[in-house]
Amino acid sequence: MVGKAHPTVLNFIFHNQRDIDYQMTVSKIREELNNLLPQLTAELAQISQLDQLSQLKVKYLGRKGPLSAILRKLGALSAEDRPMIGQLANIVKTQMEEKLAQAEISLAARHQDEKLAQETIDITLPGRVPEIGRIHPITKTIHEVCAIFQNLGFQIAEGPEIETDFYNFEALNIPAHHPARDMHDTFYLQNNLLLRTHTSPVQIRVMEKQAPPLRIIAPGKVYRRDADITHTPMFHQVEGLLVDKTVAFSDLKGTLTVFIQRMFGAGTALRFRPSYFPFTEPSAEVDIACVICSSRGCRVCKGSGWLEILGAGMVDPAVFRMVNYDPEEYTGFAFGMGIERIAMLKYGVDDIRLFFENDLRFLRQF
Ligand SMILES: [Zn+2]
Repeated sequence: MVGKAHPTVLNFIFHNQRDIDYQMTVSKIREELNNLLPQLTAELAQISQLDQLSQLKVKYLGRKGPLSAILRKLGALSAEDRPMIGQLANIVKTQMEEKLAQAEISLAARHQDEKLAQETIDITLPGRVPEIGRIHPITKTIHEVCAIFQNLGFQIAEGPEIETDFYNFEALNIPAHHPARDMHDTFYLQNNLLLRTHTSPVQIRVMEKQAPPLRIIAPGKVYRRDADITHTPMFHQVEGLLVDKTVAFSDLKGTLTVFIQRMFGAGTALRFRPSYFPFTEPSAEVDIACVICSSRGCRVCKGSGWLEILGAGMVDPAVFRMVNYDPEEYTGFAFGMGIERIAMLKYGVDDIRLFFENDLRFLRQF
């Protein structure tokens, strides 16, 4: 006879089986957790690179790792097992994190050691010294020219680069439509203002304010509408002016001889050629014996043995009258020179544009 088992007995067997399964699950989880650290330790022993370490970090602690999988199962555990397994999981997690952190430190140190072993450092090499700037050859030449004239008792005077037509032309005996203006084509601004074409306006500005006697030297930037290998739209001049009683042309010649010989060397010959400037009378161009070929004749002096270096002359009485100096009582001389021209001759530079291109290979030579 086939009897039916009593429902209570069946229930007991069923419950008992579930209980056994449950207990197995719990112990399996526990075992998995306990195995994680030894597994990680074994894998860490195999690696030598930091990127392998980050892969292990993801593998063990990442969202798809074994620890996360176990934590997801916690919900199915009984109220008394859940905190116990949770606590164990936290301990294992902390231990793994510590293990990984230690491994990272030692790998990084090993990496550094290897790099140092490969690199050879020569500790006897000099250190990197910050580069020291230098004075631009044009500024240097201005300083030299001014220093020579200061030794002769001249004072430095300065004027604005933006001038009025009056100071740049009219007061210097160059009225409108005077042919001398052709050589002074410049950049015009509004309201009758212009960029000065020479440093000569400084003469007028100083004489307006000071009574004679005076000795001034005026260095500065000037502008003309010119651009080729010997002309740039902006260049530098130094202007000189001496006014006193009984100043003669021989004083001009003596002063310039001292200057030229100090600038280009004792014994440098110079000559005066008659010329014309609206603000001096008589006027002269001053040449020096060619410093490139010692007057034998070369490309720079065009075979003549002489180099034009500056313009000079006795101040025209008309200019004195403009500033209310009495031309019967006072005489004076004035001269002006291009600084770039002096620097080119002194340093043997054959293209004026080199001064303003800011090429350090050029500038470092001075
Ligand atoms: Zn020459």
